[in-house]
Amino acid sequence: MKIAKVVCQILRIQNVAAKTASCQDAVLVRVQTDDGLAGVGEADSSPEVVKSIVDAPFSHNIACGLRELLIGENPLETERLWQKMYRRTMYFGRTGVGITAMAAVDMALWDLKGKAFGQPIHRLLGGKFHNKIRAYASILFGKNGAETREIGRKWTAAGYTAVKFGWEPMGESEALDRELVQGAREGIGEDGTLLIDAGCVWDARTALRRAHAFAEQRAEWLEEPLRQDDIEGYRWLRDRSPIPIAAGEGECGRESFRPFIEQRALDVFQVDLARNGFTDAAYIRQRVEESGARLCNHCYTSPLTAAASLHWLATCRDAFLFEDCVEDSPLRHELTHERVQAVDGWISIPDGPGLGVTLNEDFVRRHLIAESGR
Ligand SMILES: [Mg+2]
Repeated sequence: MKIAKVVCQILRIQNVAAKTASCQDAVLVRVQTDDGLAGVGEADSSPEVVKSIVDAPFSHNIACGLRELLIGENPLETERLWQKMYRRTMYFGRTGVGITAMAAVDMALWDLKGKAFGQPIHRLLGGKFHNKIRAYASILFGKNGAETREIGRKWTAAGYTAVKFGWEPMGESEALDRELVQGAREGIGEDGTLLIDAGCVWDARTALRRAHAFAEQRAEWLEEPLRQDDIEGYRWLRDRSPIPIAAGEGECGRESFRPFIEQRALDVFQVDLARNGFTDAAYIRQRVEESGARLCNHCYTSPLTAAASLHWLATCRDAFLFEDCVEDSPLRHELTHERVQAVDGWISIPDGPGLGVTLNEDFVRRHLIAESGR
């Protein structure tokens, strides 16, 4: 069995709004073998940048596009291919989008491997601990407390017992920050699990002050209060905060996570499968588990990454919540025939071969804006 084609496709919905949401476009990597098997993966990044990393021709032994490195290889050898891609892209890769593009390839290879063996990815990763996981509705804040309260009511009425609110306008002022979180608590009710995603807006001391304020509303984690590179700040904050600190969604690969793990800088490590692939996400899971911290997925894009997240999260012994993006985007709901979303606040782990989801090719055709590798 050999890789014969690596197709890269960019999809984009019609009305792209200026907001912090990944599910308005997508970059898909589709790996096909000479004997007719196929797998699909995606990256959560700027689609055009990822596509250029897949498409780039040979330039140098350690500066080579991914397609060039994959054609003719055995797709089942996921760990060796990860190492090969890492080494042969060192002059532009190693971190950030270089790893993110590799993650899309890796997701496709694992999907293909599952189909080759007729098994779900969670089984190939070693087996699932959970058949379903409690989901939290993940959504953005309203523009003030009252709007945020209504958003909370909406998702609580939809059956979620946990809701996370994120990003703008958090960080504009202390008064508005407090108003947003108070509105969120009122919206989800006394019993709901409240999670707050600040969106990288404060220094560590301001974040500590907010953590104390949000503890009054019984927020159960404060996510990304600091800029993503402030590892020392996260460690300082985590040692002092009255509520757990979550972060990691921006990290690409094991090397990016390493200092956070070694410095015990976080309570909850959020791993995005569309930035780490299964190969590095499995490695990161083991290291975080042995450090004693908790794991959650990060996912704010299509049902492909939602399915990938579930396969991985189900292999995390102490998985306690699944991030269920509830953005109202056709890409979130229609890219696959299967709807990968919670029902009554719980989400089931897919059990079909590979990712266990199938692309809606009609949807792909209607939203396709660029393609290479056919
Ligand atoms: Mg976040």
